[in-house]
Amino acid sequence: MSEKVLDYDIVIIGSGAGGGTVAKELSPLCARGARIALLEWGGHFEKKDNTREEIPMAEKYYFDHGGFQTSTQDMTLAFARALGGSTTVYTGTSITAPDSVLKKWDVPGVTPQDLKPRFEKYIQENGVHLYPPEEINDNNKLFVEGCQNLGWKVEQFPVNTRGCQGLGTCNLGCAVHAKQGTAVVQIPQAQKNGVEVIPFCRADRLDDHDVLATVLPPENALRASPLSPGRYRFRAKKIIVSAGVIHSSALLWRSFGNALSSDLGRYFTCQPALILVGEHPHPIKNTEGHPKSFYCDQFVPSDHFLLESCMYFPLTLAKNLMGFGEEMDDLMSHYAHLQMILVLAIDKAERHNRVTINKKGDPLVHYRFSKRTQDSFIQAIRSSTRLFFAAGARRVHAPAMDRFFISPEQKDQIDTLIHKKYFKLGKISISAAHLMGGCRMGEDPKESVTDPWGKVHGQDHLYVADASLFPAAVEVNPYLTIMALADRVAEGIKRELS
Ligand SMILES: Cc1cc2nc3c(=O)[nH]c(=O)nc-3n(C[C@H](O)[C@H](O)[C@H](O)COP(=O)(O)OP(=O)(O)OC[C@H]3O[C@@H](n4cnc5c(N)ncnc54)[C@H](O)[C@@H]3O)c2cc1C
Repeated sequence: MSEKVLDYDIVIIGSGAGGGTVAKELSPLCARGARIALLEWGGHFEKKDNTREEIPMAEKYYFDHGGFQTSTQDMTLAFARALGGSTTVYTGTSITAPDSVLKKWDVPGVTPQDLKPRFEKYIQENGVHLYPPEEINDNNKLFVEGCQNLGWKVEQFPVNTRGCQGLGTCNLGCAVHAKQGTAVVQIPQAQKNGVEVIPFCRADRLDDHDVLATVLPPENALRASPLSPGRYRFRAKKIIVSAGVIHSSALLWRSFGNALSSDLGRYFTCQPALILVGEHPHPIKNTEGHPKSFYCDQFVPSDHFLLESCMYFPLTLAKNLMGFGEEMDDLMSHYAHLQMILVLAIDKAERHNRVTINKKGDPLVHYRFSKRTQDSFIQAIRSSTRLFFAAGARRVHAPAMDRFFISPEQKDQIDTLIHKKYFKLGKISISAAHLMGGCRMGEDPKESVTDPWGKVHGQDHLYVADASLFPAAVEVNPYLTIMALADRVAEGIKRELS
């Protein structure tokens, strides 16, 4: 097939939290004659394209329907393929990296002072605010009640919505575009300033200063790319890789093999998560309203886990619970009575956890659950069970038990009934959506892939601007920190160009 050649000053690959931000920040350069392209593998979803049906929308928005498996098949990873990347399906909880985490990262220049104005910019742009009490649904109220009855610290999530109708299907994309992701806020601004947005365009490989890409026929009845399907060579003075944690490392592996840092793909972390449920005697309002309004982080320093309120759709929920048959049927038939909690283990960045590629060049993720993470899960399941009972649940279904349900009468036996001996990797459904690392920033090329401004060590034209830059877990919900780092990358590029 013949290859069409196009010339640009800057090509950005991927349009999520990182790529969408960098495109907007660099877009004023178009007024000075710069030609900038934003390539995105996925399509552009308009409001009318979102039916809110669980299976079709998961299939349309996510890589592998949201079930990309790690090589040992004991965890699935959720990340999106769409204009706006995973910000199309995120919940919009907006937390900034704690100072203590930035201190641990120890990347020169990536300090609270440097990031604060960047955080403030995106908090403003994205309309981050707290929902008023009358908009908090029962599921979230029960989370607060449980924490308060136990004397635990509980905090409200700031959220980035405008005109939220409480549809509750945030993780299937927002059918009214209330969530202020990059496809709603930053990309339209970039486009208005002259950035050329090219959906259904997959970057296959980098070839020196060129991006070799394929424009695909449109899927899912979405609008076609402005370029006709076929092979393209985008010649660029600067290339910014923002394809997300899995695909940025994979693209760099396909393009450079071992020629980049020996840390390429390494120190992958993902805050592995479990969904837990407690059944209440009466129906609760759980599917309407913003699904995730509160969190409890008091166990992070001691036991390395976070608890968040959450609400998942029937198939996702059933897939994440243990067991089959009558008991599962019984539990799912009480869907309207279920309170849900998301447990996130704060995993350590370890060198052996990494993104590589297989012979075909597709991404492979190698992840081993450390003893610390498994211990965190046990403590988190026990704590969530206490929370459910403190909120009035009549029975709790928890993984890591020898039975399907635990009742309030057994609450003194929680530590015995929920035990490590029942926690079997591969049998318990673990998933993750906060993917981080693989192209970690740092000063020393022996210990990092990019410099503190996201420029790939040893390359004069190549940058990374997405969650791959994180040297270790951010210990909170990550998107605002990704945007702040992408803002830094754009600043560095603008400085170089001027
Ligand atoms: C269900 C879910 C809920 C979440 N909720 C929250 C939340 O409430 N708060 C929070 O802070 N974070 C949340 N997150 C995490 C957050 O959305 C991500 O951390 C963030 O979007 C990652 O940004 P990124 O730029 O690294 O990658 P992404 O946003 O995933 O963007 C990468 C983009 O690159 C594209 N791409 C990949 N390969 C190529 C290629 N070869 N060529 C062209 N394009 C390519 C992809 O299609 C994708 O659009 C959630 C994530 C998920 C999945």
